[in-house]
Amino acid sequence: MPRLSLVVPMYNEQEMTRLFFEKTLPLVQQCTDDYEFIFVNDGSRDNTLANLKELAAQNPRVKVLSLSRNFGKEAAVTAGLEVSSGDAVIILDADLQDPPELIPQFWEKFEQGFENVYGVRADRGADSFLKRATAQTFYKIYNLLADTPLPYNAGDCRLMSRRAVNAVLSLPERERFMKGLFSWVGYKSAAVPFCRAPRAAGKTKWNYWRLWNFALNGLTASTTVPLKLWTYFGLLVSLGAFLFAAWTAYKKIMWGNPVSGYTSLMVVILFFSGVQLITLGVIGEYLSRIFIEVKRRPVYLADEKINF
Ligand code: UDP
Ligand code: MG
Repeated sequence: MPRLSLVVPMYNEQEMTRLFFEKTLPLVQQCTDDYEFIFVNDGSRDNTLANLKELAAQNPRVKVLSLSRNFGKEAAVTAGLEVSSGDAVIILDADLQDPPELIPQFWEKFEQGFENVYGVRADRGADSFLKRATAQTFYKIYNLLADTPLPYNAGDCRLMSRRAVNAVLSLPERERFMKGLFSWVGYKSAAVPFCRAPRAAGKTKWNYWRLWNFALNGLTASTTVPLKLWTYFGLLVSLGAFLFAAWTAYKKIMWGNPVSGYTSLMVVILFFSGVQLITLGVIGEYLSRIFIEVKRRPVYLADEKINF
């Protein structure tokens, strides 16, 4: 059982394989000689797997888990955690955006007894205004609604003790919003501030549509408030409607009934049609996820394992 496992998801990162390994190796060795690298090839279509095999052939501490297709980062990280065996596991992005200097800092915290150590982005200067604003809004809403809050601007890079890793792996859901799972397990946590570097090579796999769906996944996985909200909204509206009906009846009795109000009728009809469609949509968001969960398909499929 190695002391330290490094889990790195890779999707089309052919430029980064060797570069990543060479940058991080000395820092890992600074912590312990008893380490393993676990590279998860998430169905890359470029030379990532070939490059990883080359690394693995040269170093038996480099292990490669290749998935049968692209399953997404959350699944790839889950796969890496499942095959890791270290007392402590560090998760890093392949593109060196999480600076490798975090490795000894995380390790130091681990030796002080922290079991859930995460990097927090000290500044988001590298991001566009829109990215910063949307991220901020997401954290606000999430922390307002979810049971276990997310630390603001926590990166995906972190160290976890074996106990914490096993706890994360014992959570059976298929839709794996890892940040939420990591915070849910708790244990003694510590934050390490860092500055996120620009990508060392290659391209980001994210765009706003993926981010939006990622945010929806996170929210629906962690809170049911959006489902329940409408009960109260509906109650409020019914109360309003009741009062309005009473007022209309009173008016009719007192002053008769001159027909008018086409505009207000249209407004009310359109408004409530919209609200009803939104609530149906919210139910749909949850229902589709329940559907995925009840199918109980595996989170990923492994194709090849090297050096395990
Ligand atoms: N990644 C992955 N599967 C995917 C998308 C991304 O394993 O489907 C990996 C990617 O190789 C990288 C990490 O997840 O190591 C972060 O991806 P990226 O740098 O594109 O995201 P960003 O840093 O822009 O948020
Ligand atoms: Mg990146």
